[in-house]
Parts: sequence; C-alpha cells; structure tokens
Amino acid sequence: MTQTPPAAPNKKAVTDEAVLRSRAYFAGDWHAGQQTFGVIHPGDGRTLGAVADCTAEDARAAIDAAEVALRGWRAVTPYERGQVLRRWHDLMFVHKEELARLMTLEMGKPITETRGEVHYAASFIEWCAEEASRIGGERITMRAGNKRGFSNAEPVGIVYAVTPWNFPAGMITRKAAPALAAGCVMILKPAEQSPMTALYLAELWLEAGGPANTLQVLPTNDAASFSAPFMEDARVRKLTFTGSTAVGRLLYTQAAKTLKRVSLELGGHAPFLIFDDADLERAAREVVGSKFRNAGQTCISTNRVYVQRGVAEEFTRLLSERAARLTLGDPLQDGTNVGPVVEQAGLDKVTAQVQDALARGATATVGGQGTGGLYFQPTVLTNVHPDSLILREETFGPVAPVVVFDTEEEALRLANASEYGLAAYAYTRDLSRAWRVAEALEYGIVGINDGVPSNGAPNVPFGGMKNSGVGREGGHWGLDEYLEIKFISMGV
Ligand code: NAD
Repeated sequence: MTQTPPAAPNKKAVTDEAVLRSRAYFAGDWHAGQQTFGVIHPGDGRTLGAVADCTAEDARAAIDAAEVALRGWRAVTPYERGQVLRRWHDLMFVHKEELARLMTLEMGKPITETRGEVHYAASFIEWCAEEASRIGGERITMRAGNKRGFSNAEPVGIVYAVTPWNFPAGMITRKAAPALAAGCVMILKPAEQSPMTALYLAELWLEAGGPANTLQVLPTNDAASFSAPFMEDARVRKLTFTGSTAVGRLLYTQAAKTLKRVSLELGGHAPFLIFDDADLERAAREVVGSKFRNAGQTCISTNRVYVQRGVAEEFTRLLSERAARLTLGDPLQDGTNVGPVVEQAGLDKVTAQVQDALARGATATVGGQGTGGLYFQPTVLTNVHPDSLILREETFGPVAPVVVFDTEEEALRLANASEYGLAAYAYTRDLSRAWRVAEALEYGIVGINDGVPSNGAPNVPFGGMKNSGVGREGGHWGLDEYLEIKFISMGV
C-alpha cells in the first residue's frame, strides 16, 4: 500500500439518476435485456429502477466471449495487467461518492459505511495490482543431474463468480482483483438486490482499459436457471461464491460434475468471548462495532456474546448504554449508525429470533422490536436460554444476545458448538489465555482484543472452517486460488 488515491475523495452531492444502472455487460456490449427486474431501496421501499434480467442463453454467450477474451488477457504481461488494475483502483476513488450512494440506495447500508466500503473494495485491487508482477514460478533442483525443473504459475481460466448483496463492491473486488491479476477472465452474477454496483464497477473496469469481456457482469432474477450453463460447461474452470451455506453447498455439488476449482465464502455465527480480566470499555465498543455495523448483516458479525460471570453485569450495562446511543434511521443521512435490513425475509428472521428468545425468558435491555418498514431497533438480549434459535442460526440483524459463562473451558465449548467456523473474538489481558483461546477456537479468523481483524487488510487470509466455506480470499492465498501450478521438467 504505497500510493495514495489520485483524487481527494469527492464528497460532492450526487443525484440518484447519475448513479443508477440498468444494462448488463456481456459479449462485448451493454444489453438492456428482453426482460427486466426491479431494484428496491430498503430505506423507503421505492423502486430505484429496472435492470436487465439475463437468461441462460445470455450466460452461454458470455462464456463464448470469455473464451476469446481469455486468450488475449492471459498473454498480457502480469506487469501490464497490474497497471490496468491500478487505474481501476484509482477510478473507484474518482467515483467514490457515486459508488457509496449507489450501494446505500441498493441495500440500505448507512452512507458513512458505504464510503468506507469503497476504500475496502479498492484495497484488494491495489494489493493485486502490485502483486501481479510477482506472479511467476520457481526453479526446482532435480535429483537427476541431466534434468531441470520449474514450477510455472498460470491462470486457471474462465471464472464464474456469484456474490451477495451485503458488501456490493467488496465481495466483487475480493474475487475479481486476484482473478484478473492472475490472467483469468471473470463472469459475474451479482446478487439480485445489488446488481447496479456491479455494473458500475464493470464500467470503471472498461474505462481503466480492461479489455472487452475480461469482466462481464450479468444480473438475473433467476439465479438457478442462469447458473446452469456455467456449472455444466467444462470451459468454466473455477467457481467462486460468497453467500449462504445452503446455496454454497448446492453449487459445490454442481461444480463436481466438471471438477471445477471452487472457493466458497459462506455463513457464520461468530462468538465474542469476554473474560473477567478484559478491558470492558473497549470490549463493549468493539462488540457494538462488530454487531451493529451494516445492521448486523455481515458474515463475521458477532452473533453470540459470552461474558464471564464476574464482569457480566458491568459489561452488559456498558454494552446496553452504547447500543442505546446508536441512531437508527435513513441510511442516506450522515448521522445514521444503523439502517434498515435488506428485505422483508431478513426482517422476519430477526423478528422471529427475538420473539423466540423473549418467549424462552430473555430480557431486552435495549430495543427488541421493529419500528416500521425494514427497520429493527438495535437490541441487546440478556438471560438468553441455551436452546434459543438466535444462539444457533445466523441472525443477520442488529441483535446481540448475551450469555454468561464461568470457566475458560466452558466458554470454548460454547463458542465451538456451532456448525459454522468463520470468525470468533476474545477479549482478555492474559497473554497465555489469549494464545490458548486463539488456538482452540475452531474458526478461520480470530480477533484477540480486536473486533475488526480484517478491516482495511486486503493482505490477510479471509475464510472459514466447517460449514463456513472452502478456500481463502485476500493476500497471496486469494491470488493462489486463481493460479494453476504447472510442473515443467526439461532434459539437458
Ligand atoms: P444467498 O446464498 O441467498 O445469495 C448469494 C448469491 O447466490 C446471490 O447472488 C444469489 O442470487 C445467488 N444464488 C441464490 N440461489 C442460487 C442458485 N440456486 N444458483 C446460483 N446462485 C444462486 O445469500 P445472501 O442472503 O445474498 O447473502 C448472505 C449470506 O452470505 C450470509 O449467509 C452471509 O454470512 C454470507 N456471506 C459470507 C461471506 C464470507 O466471506 N464468508 C461474506 C458475505 C456474506
């Protein structure tokens, strides 16, 4: 991260019309689509516009175009590919305010957070722009004196990417940047809730000098039918997916038919452990950040708070005070901390989990209900019964259930009793305990005295164990997912 963005982040006011997009980009052109589907602003339910609804036939055209584009792009030197990526990164800052507004319009994340997401999303492009020129291989010493060995890193080929709505830009660049740096070409199917951000990014990629069809973006309202051609076509060599565990598992099975390389970033159910020697003020602040950011709709969002008995009362008070100070409201306003959830199904799930916990004897020290539209109050629950749904199922909403524990052993048992293994957090000042806990947590990402371990860090491995996924994104681990290693032996 050596360079700074070229333009000061623009905070000029932008109109909705200036940022909304509708046409799909594939087979070398922008297509209005024979059919369209509406994109809704969760903040007030209004329809923002209609987007091309791509079909299986469009998918096949995109694969054909990608096959041609791949031949050209993989032949471009990694150094030159890095330069295109660098321009793409810079353009994101030129259009920072537009991108932020578009994301807030599409999925309701507060505008201060979507501005941050532009930085986060761009950081993957910057890192990969620099790393591209370091893609190469190794000389291998052979046992036979008359042979020379080499490993050669080569692009995997055509990549099919499927992304969620909760980080409309970040979840795309975390895949597209390493894929394009590696010399792969990508066909992206964005979430139906946030297709316009994806189209905007494709536009910027072309403006940066990205060759035709190296990054094609096809929105659709029928993900299953649209995806079928990719899963069946042996020319598509990789599937990269971020979303729910249920859909990830389905695509994993489908990808087996043509033995594609697969990366899956799936659901989570993060525990946050607070031991009695913790800095409680800081822990409370970070639980609030981890839990209520993006209205709790983050895969690494804290889902269960476990606090040691001796500090439980004090910690719950601090947490409740902070949660009560959060401003729930219009995500387009600068002062808003918590916006709406993305859609009715999400709100229904949050409401059902809270009602279930309350029915089993929990108390809401803050919040506890919806306030109309897709808004749900930032909520803290105490006395949560162990059988409560909220302690087992991903919430994806602004609710923090607090559970008391007595010993480290008990805390670890509770934390690991989950089908998920994405992120976990622990607060303690005891160095030995910090290591013991970090090593014992069955999670791909562990924050010790850190509630935002991957914030602003495009170079760290991001991914889950168990039902949270396969593979890692970020850093060289993320780049490796798009490279095949060829062994070359040469007789002399
Ligand atoms: P989702 O699985 O419903 O949708 C994700 C994507 O899959 C969307 O683009 C959707 O259109 C597509 N899809 C749905 N059914 C499909 C099918 N049959 N075939 C092909 N594609 C299909 O998930 P969501 O609700 O949009 O996203 C939230 C989930 O994503 C949460 O579980 C969250 O934890 C997870 N997530 C994980 C990470 C991570 O890095 N591990 C990051 C963000 C979100």
